[in-house]
Amino acid sequence: MIARQARWLGARTICLDPAADAPANRVCDEHITAAFDDAGALEELCRRVDVVTYEFENVPGEVLIPLVEKYNIPQGYRPLYDSQDRAREKTNARQNGLQTPAFALADDRASLLEAVEEVGYPCIFKTRTLGYDGHGQVLLRSEADLVRVEPYFGTPGIVEEFVSFDMEASIVMVSDGENIINFPVGRNIHRDGILDECIVPAPLSDSVVAKIESSSKEFMRRCGYTGILAIEYFVRGEEIYFNEMAPRPHNSGHWTIEGCSTNQFRELCRYLLGEPLHEPQLLAPTVMKNILGQDLEAAQAIEAQNLSGVHVHIYGKTVSKPKRKMGHITFTGLSAAEFDSYWKEKFV
Ligand code: AMP
Repeated sequence: MIARQARWLGARTICLDPAADAPANRVCDEHITAAFDDAGALEELCRRVDVVTYEFENVPGEVLIPLVEKYNIPQGYRPLYDSQDRAREKTNARQNGLQTPAFALADDRASLLEAVEEVGYPCIFKTRTLGYDGHGQVLLRSEADLVRVEPYFGTPGIVEEFVSFDMEASIVMVSDGENIINFPVGRNIHRDGILDECIVPAPLSDSVVAKIESSSKEFMRRCGYTGILAIEYFVRGEEIYFNEMAPRPHNSGHWTIEGCSTNQFRELCRYLLGEPLHEPQLLAPTVMKNILGQDLEAAQAIEAQNLSGVHVHIYGKTVSKPKRKMGHITFTGLSAAEFDSYWKEKFV
């Protein structure tokens, strides 16, 4: 999706991906097949291009440190590094003005008991690194659940307060160092820890939306981050709690391709190419539905209907599995209620 927008702006692209059949290989002008921590291959990528970005947060931040000094990687390693460890990420968020759920470190039985004592039930154990889409998480309602954390002993983790939120919401911003643009705040509905639907605009009060926008921009400024940044929040009443951030185009911003006057991928490319950013305008109420492996057939049937306002994206991943993100559908000009009353039942 980044490569398509780069091409739209007249740029050529090379991607690096460990999978020989990566969907991006079919869209980029050239590709390199190598592991994300293959120093030689990363160096080759940097040598062959004018500007580098990343769109997967498990590229180890450390491998970028020697490269950012020699090559043009304008986002730098910092936002990636800051986001790769949940304890570091939340500490950084707090230090830069955002409220987070209470949390404490838990690496073994003794620290788990202490952390649970401090945070209280209900709470969630999460591994500090490499967790996504709810992987490496255990909901702890009472002492009886503690045994389920045992497989993770020895792995750095945190215990986090369970926030009984009204809804989850996220924002995607792009900063060129002076100007920060933001895409409209959307409501995110997760299923089994995986993003399922985004609803835009989020059904939040103007004051909460304004708080999300201003606190997120202030956070980005204070951290000195440039480029793209997505932040996910839990919203309870007028309170917003930072959950996590990602310095890359975000799944909750995929709807911007059709729902907005410009999209998250294009604005990232404008930033990378040194062009002025465009302030996004919402074109119509929009709902995005993720297509997991189990929804693929339904998505293909919907695509075949060729309906106005229904935009089906199938990513071209060669292996489909239940719970693997295989694509998404953006419904423009559709409210959440309309989605629920007609479309929702089409999916597993
Ligand atoms: P994460 O990978 O941390 O974003 O967690 C995936 C999903 O699990 C979130 O989007 C929430 O739906 C849920 N979740 C994670 N942490 C919490 C929490 N502290 N309180 C309530 N729900 C949570």
